[in-house]
Amino acid sequence: MNYKVKGTYDLLPEEAIKWEYVTNKLKEIFKKYNYKEIRTPIMEYSEVFHREGEFSDMVQKETYNFVDKGNRNITLRPEATAGIMRSVIENKSYAQNDILKYYYIGPNYRYERPQKGRFREFYQFGIEAIGLKSPYVDAEVIMLASDIITEFGLDGVLIKLNSLGDNESRLRYQKVLEEYFNSHKTGLCNDCQVRLDNNPLRILDCKIDGPKDIVKNAPKSIDYLTDNSKLHFEKVLKVLDENKINYEIDHNLVRGIDYYSETVFEIHAHIKDFGNANTLGGGGAYDNLSIDLGGPELTGIGFSFGMERFIEALEVSGVMPNMEYILDAYIITFDESFNQFASHVLKELRDANITSEMDYDTKSVKSKMKKAIKLNPKYLIFIGEDEVKNNLVSVKDTETQEQQQMKLEELLKLLGGK
Ligand code: AMP
Repeated sequence: MNYKVKGTYDLLPEEAIKWEYVTNKLKEIFKKYNYKEIRTPIMEYSEVFHREGEFSDMVQKETYNFVDKGNRNITLRPEATAGIMRSVIENKSYAQNDILKYYYIGPNYRYERPQKGRFREFYQFGIEAIGLKSPYVDAEVIMLASDIITEFGLDGVLIKLNSLGDNESRLRYQKVLEEYFNSHKTGLCNDCQVRLDNNPLRILDCKIDGPKDIVKNAPKSIDYLTDNSKLHFEKVLKVLDENKINYEIDHNLVRGIDYYSETVFEIHAHIKDFGNANTLGGGGAYDNLSIDLGGPELTGIGFSFGMERFIEALEVSGVMPNMEYILDAYIITFDESFNQFASHVLKELRDANITSEMDYDTKSVKSKMKKAIKLNPKYLIFIGEDEVKNNLVSVKDTETQEQQQMKLEELLKLLGGK
C-alpha cells in the first residue's frame, strides 16, 4: 500500500517554506506578549481527553484511541489544551508564577470526515494563559488573537464573543435552556435531541438548517450571568473598546468543547470565497478543566487557530510573501578528477554559511549546465584544470552573466560569507 492515510497530507518543500515563514512570524508575535513555547506529547492517557462530562463530538466520536502493549489506553491528542493543563498539574508549574503564558504549534488528530480544509492530522497554533482569573487576561488573549490577523496582513478582523459565565450562571442557564428546548423537542435534529440530555448548551452550536429558528430564539446566556460573571464580561468588553478591537457579541457562541466557561470567542477575518471557513480560530476560558483532570482549582483561557486554514487564508488573500529557497552557489567541475579540489571549496563555502551545492554527476558539462539553469543559483562556480593548478575558482554571476577567476577568499567575500 503506497498511499497516505486518509485525511493526512504531505507537506512538500515548496509548502514547508511557507509554514516556516508563518511559524517564525508567529513566534515573534507571541514573544511581544511574553508567551513561551510549550511542547507536550502527542499521545496522552485517554482520560486526559475522555473526562467525565465531556460530551463534545470531538471527544466522543473523533478521537484516535488505542491500547498499547502495556494495556494502557492511549489517545492521540485531538486538541492541545487538555494536555497542557495535564502538564501544568503534573509539573506543578502553577507554583512558579501566578500566571503561566504558553504558546504551542503542533499536530492534532481527529477522525473527522476529510474535506476541504478539514484533515484527520492537522496542525494548530495557539496560546494558553493559566492561573490568573482577570478580565484583563481575557482581553489580552483576545487582543493577541486579533493582532495575529492584522500582523499577517489579513483584512476585516472580527472577534465574535459571548459569556457562558461561572458555574452558577451555567447551571441556571442550562436549566432554562433545557426547559426551552424540551418544549421544542420535536423541531430539533436527532443529534440535538441527544444533546438535550447530555449538554443542552451544545444545541446552540447546531449546524443543521431546520431548527435554526428554534436556536435563534433560544434564551441567551448573557441574561443568566451572576453579578460577578456579568461584571467580568463587561470589563473585558471595556478593554476591547478602549483598544479599538473590532468585536460583536454572538449569543449562540458556545464553542465545540464542553470545558469552556466565562468568556468564549471566535476569530474571523474577511477572506474572499472562504464562506463559513472565515472562522480562523476560537477559544475561551476553562475554569473547570484542572479540577476535571484531578488538579487544583486553576483558571485558564486560550485560543487555537488551524494552521492549514490560516495558511490558505493568507494565500487566497494575497498576503503570503513569495517564499523560495535560495541557492547561493553551485559548483560544476569539468572532470571528475577535479572533484576533490571542488569538495574542499564546497566545505569552505558551507563553513561560511553559504548555501551551496555541487554536481556529483559524471555526465557532460553540457548536461550539468542544463541542470544548473533549473536550480537557478546566484553564482555558478566552475572548476577545471587551470583552476586546480592555480588554486582559483571561476565564478559566474548568473544575473549579469559576468565571469571571472578569483581566489577562494575572494569568493567567500563576494558571497558575503561569515
Ligand atoms: P477547535 O479546536 O475545534 O475549536 O478548532 C480551532 C480551529 O482549528 C478551527 O477554526 C479550524 O481552523 C481548525 N481545525 C479544527 N479541526 C480541524 C481539522 N479537522 N482539520 C483542519 N483544521 C481544523
